[in-house]
Amino acid sequence: MNVVVLYGGQSQEHQVSLISAAGVIRELEKMPDVSLSLAGITLEGRWFLQDKTEQLRCARETGALTIIPDPESALALHPGEGIVDTSGTVLPVDCVFPVLHGAYGEDGTIQGLLEMCHLPYVGSGVTGSALGMDKVRAKQIWEQNNLPVVPYITVTDAITVNQAPSGKNPGPDALSQITQTATERIIGTFGFPVFVKPNAAGSSVGITRVEDSAHLGAALKRAFRVDATVLIEQALTVREIETAVLGNSDPRTFPSGEVIPSHQFYDYEAKYTDPAGAALKIPADLDPALAREIEELSRQAFLAVGAAGLARVDCFLHRETRQIYLNEINTLPGFTPISMYPKMVQEGGVTYAELLRELLTLALERDRHRS
Ligand code: ADP
Ligand code: MG
Ligand code: MG
Repeated sequence: MNVVVLYGGQSQEHQVSLISAAGVIRELEKMPDVSLSLAGITLEGRWFLQDKTEQLRCARETGALTIIPDPESALALHPGEGIVDTSGTVLPVDCVFPVLHGAYGEDGTIQGLLEMCHLPYVGSGVTGSALGMDKVRAKQIWEQNNLPVVPYITVTDAITVNQAPSGKNPGPDALSQITQTATERIIGTFGFPVFVKPNAAGSSVGITRVEDSAHLGAALKRAFRVDATVLIEQALTVREIETAVLGNSDPRTFPSGEVIPSHQFYDYEAKYTDPAGAALKIPADLDPALAREIEELSRQAFLAVGAAGLARVDCFLHRETRQIYLNEINTLPGFTPISMYPKMVQEGGVTYAELLRELLTLALERDRHRS
């Protein structure tokens, strides 16, 4: 089986991908029936075929892959044909493994490109990926399916786009107008404190916890820098429970894990830069009925957005009311051997190598059902 691993990518989570991919290729390389090729995608979005021996050495020494943008090894994608090298040769590909996170990786865009090239790939298709990346639309679909979500409102800077000369960020007048309207809506609904989040992002980029109306404007400004749609959620006192879902139309779940941030919330630093930023507890300490309920809810959330292959579904468990809420679904979750998703699957009795094997099988199975 010819497998092409895609890594890097045009997103804020480029670096995380370099680490995730190192874990993936080290394991795929050991499989006797897999012939592995590596395509590194630069931050600018250009694709280059990478030397496997060189990258394996890099993975061994640094724990991460790197991308060498040699023009001789540039790759192009041809709709209806596949991946083509500089000599015009079409690469033999049975399955693509996009080990990419965030924008242009797990938002449906690359999935669309691969569909156009008739290439089977690991993970969710265009719709599932796009919905997973769009927090508001995922919530809308869950609400329609009677699945619980945290109370929220959405705010857009649409009214300001014409006023702001730069186009993107609301000017000071527009921002104060948006902030005032948002404050009224917050007070009229769930009240402060709230979480302000850019709609389509990840890794906690652009997210602020806001205690009172005086700090709302700054938080909105910060979120609007990332996305023109921002959601404001009621801030709840919660435990954060994450569940690995694996499969296509009848997916299975694994015992959930818990993230215990040492910061005020699970922010970017707690995720990536502060080694003591968060503890992971797998499995989470939950009573069995509650554990079953969370796993079933995660399965339903996966099916509702049309995810496929794998996803990590993140829930909140309210500390006082014990109510469960869906927070978000990540269709290409962190995938280093010590990341939450592979660890939860391993705790559930499936090794990292078996997981990779199953993901490839699921990708081919999904492709057969489509064509
Ligand atoms: P991302 O996609 O960037 O991970 P999340 O929606 O998961 O965004 O938010 C990041 C973190 O912020 C969560 O892991 C949690 O710690 C905190 N958080 C987000 N929303 C809420 C909320 N409504 N109540 C309490 N904490 C929240
Ligand atoms: Mg996320
Ligand atoms: Mg999250």
